Amino acid sequence: MELNIPFNKPYLTGKETEYINQSVISGKISGDGVFTKKCHQWFEENLQVKKALLTTSCTDALEMAALLINIKPGDEVIMPSYTFVSTANAFVLRGAKIIFADSHKNHPGIDESKIESLITTKTKAIVPVHYAGVACNMDVIMDLANKYDLYVIEDAAQAIDSYYLGKDGIKKTLGSIGHLAAFSFHETKNIMSGEGGLLVINDDKFVKRAEIIREKGTNRSAFFRGEVDKYNWVDVGSSFLPSDIIAAFLYAQLENIEKIQKQRKLIWDLYHRLLTPLSVKGKINLPEVPLYATNNGHMFYLDCKTLANRTKIIDVLKLNGVLAVFHYLSLHKSTFYQNNHDGRALTYSDYYTDTLLRLPLYFELTEKEVTLIANIITKIFE
Ligand SMILES: *Cc1c(COP(=O)(O)O)cnc(C)c1O
Repeated sequence: MELNIPFNKPYLTGKETEYINQSVISGKISGDGVFTKKCHQWFEENLQVKKALLTTSCTDALEMAALLINIKPGDEVIMPSYTFVSTANAFVLRGAKIIFADSHKNHPGIDESKIESLITTKTKAIVPVHYAGVACNMDVIMDLANKYDLYVIEDAAQAIDSYYLGKDGIKKTLGSIGHLAAFSFHETKNIMSGEGGLLVINDDKFVKRAEIIREKGTNRSAFFRGEVDKYNWVDVGSSFLPSDIIAAFLYAQLENIEKIQKQRKLIWDLYHRLLTPLSVKGKINLPEVPLYATNNGHMFYLDCKTLANRTKIIDVLKLNGVLAVFHYLSLHKSTFYQNNHDGRALTYSDYYTDTLLRLPLYFELTEKEVTLIANIITKIFE
């Protein structure tokens, strides 16, 4: 049978255009309108965070974070090498030097045991990336931040509806643990608005300044609340807030998050079950979710063990009409940054660069299609 399965397909709940219409006829479609406020309230309640501010992307939210913690030329920021360029770019734009840490042996996330030896007097922040929506070991990371007086900014781009179970026994939403956190609503994420993002503020001292930086360095937000009688240029800033039309789209998605998440996790579980025999035979490794983390059905990936295996699987799937894709190329080896890296080998970051394969995962992917994809992969190893 000839399949035609894309890697991703954005799911529309049906209410997006209705809410966009409502926003348009309300007469106020610039930022911080009715739907933006609804989204802010939703996130503050559901993520249980102090302050949520929509941005035009996760990239923008990370850039705001870099401004908020006053990154200056020469500051050092520790993050995994196996991540998206924006995680690093946001800090490089402000002159920071990125100190890349390796991934875990069994998971692409940052290996927390490698962080402390990288901390110097210049270190300003640690940026854990919750890869595939699976939590980093936040107890270790927050303890280091407290010990050395550093900021923690969670790159939670992929981590909506995912949790961290701390050693205190409390289950916390990802994005609610660091001083600041950034989420993405790019169309490849679980909840999306085409392009879109969110800055989460967990440390009160950043709230006022975040509103100013997001509004071009002006105190316009305070002015609209009637707290000041005219608005003025008071700090650096840029235009980080999205149109209310974007928020209207996003709100329709948020209203359906339970339904979306249920389906994505069902697909994830089915892949996992069908591919377990291959992993038992040692042909591939399946994703590991540590005991302190949860799975939010963001991504189903295989560790194909070798580059040759991965290339073979991609090619065979493609011949059968299925698009599977690899993911990040280690940033410490990128064209742009390789000469700034200190030369340390990052074995597992490079390993996942070569071996990680992402399978199609989207709301409308059927159980039958998942079964066919798993069968194609299984046959390769027979
Ligand atoms: C998607 C993603 C980003 C960027 O998100 P945008 O909203 O596209 O800017 C940043 N970091 C990670 C880990 C991502 O997956």
